[in-house]
Amino acid sequence: MNAEIIAIGSELLTPFRQDTNSLYLTEKLNQLGVEVIFKTIVGDSRERLTGAASLAVSRAEVVIFMGGLGPTEDDLTREAVADALGLELRRDPAIVTSLEQRFAARGWKMATNNLKQADVISGATVLPNANGSAPGQWMSGKYDGRERIIILLPGPPHELKALFEEQCLARLRAKLPPQFIGSRELKITGLGESACDFRIAPIYKLYTDVETTILAGADEIQLHLKSRASSLEAAQSRVDELAEKIEEELGDSVFSDNGDSMEQIVGYYLQMRNATLAVAESCTGGLLAERITSVGGSSRYFVGGAVVYSNQLKTAFADVPAELIEKHGAVSSEVAKAMAEGIRRRSGATFGLSVTGVAGPTGGSDQKPVGLVFHALASDAGTEVVERKFPGDRKRIRRFASQQALDMVRRKLM
Ligand code: AMP
Ligand code: MG
Repeated sequence: MNAEIIAIGSELLTPFRQDTNSLYLTEKLNQLGVEVIFKTIVGDSRERLTGAASLAVSRAEVVIFMGGLGPTEDDLTREAVADALGLELRRDPAIVTSLEQRFAARGWKMATNNLKQADVISGATVLPNANGSAPGQWMSGKYDGRERIIILLPGPPHELKALFEEQCLARLRAKLPPQFIGSRELKITGLGESACDFRIAPIYKLYTDVETTILAGADEIQLHLKSRASSLEAAQSRVDELAEKIEEELGDSVFSDNGDSMEQIVGYYLQMRNATLAVAESCTGGLLAERITSVGGSSRYFVGGAVVYSNQLKTAFADVPAELIEKHGAVSSEVAKAMAEGIRRRSGATFGLSVTGVAGPTGGSDQKPVGLVFHALASDAGTEVVERKFPGDRKRIRRFASQQALDMVRRKLM
């Protein structure tokens, strides 16, 4: 099924107000499997709105009007839609009563122009509006000789959402063929967006029935796979098959195939191995510990750590020899290694993890530019050090650094 959304209001044609309702409705309709084929914005003109309504009813199976249901002169949606369909408006006594009660409850006298909010297009079902005075309207049947669903909704976003969710979703669903959605979310790290797409596009392009969306963030790529079918098994098996082929191609760059975060994955692995982790952080300033402890139950594997920002504390809390810092600088593979080993020894954890780098924007030099970060992971099998040069501003560099550190633990335990 397809749909056209019509947003009504002259203010939506100015730079000052945006038609956000249509984004919301598009998402909801897409979730139902309804494709939005047109979006129209029309000002408060009865003639232009009637024209837009006639055109929409001629070309889309579901037509949703929003806005222009208020009491003022420029609220013309009811009249224009009735004109376009060649139908009459009738005043609904139940709505008149509820409007009168609404005003009385506030101790206000109702101006007569409010009564037009009680006008209902012949044959329409009234959708009561608990959050405002203008009710919505639902019509389904043959219009202009074609089977159509026509919906009128109030413009204020919170009223529109409540009315759509509580009164339109179930009605729409009942009109649609049964449809099931299968979905998967893969997360990838250590690969750029274009490099990733270059490798997987030849695979997902073969699955024309699976919708593949790539969302690239600073330190990970999310791959959303979605397919629709008449049974859940059929829909899910298509995305599962595609996910498997993508994982085969990208190997251990894929760290999650069910939407779990890097910190959750690291937590699973540590628990599975009965292992514990301690951290010594410099440039991430606690971000690493924050991410690890954002997972419920992390006390089972995270013993704690130290933010050793100054050279003095690197020595006092992580046993980094002062001469080592003197000789190589705080941002160096030697200091990263000593930090990881020091915090591991101090804490008694299975793994000691460290980060030291230049997050910027100041403090960079030719030898140690902004973005240079050293990560170390110490265990009884020895200590690995990874040197990376991350792009971006301070926030991105710190995020990258925490991701790289967690990823070292993941790869070690995989
Ligand atoms: P109306 O129902 O035309 O009286 O609209 C009432 C208010 O709802 C407007 O002043 C806008 O603030 C808001 N509104 C109307 N249409 C939209 C829309 N398409 N997107 C977002 N806000 C809207
Ligand atoms: Mg308006």
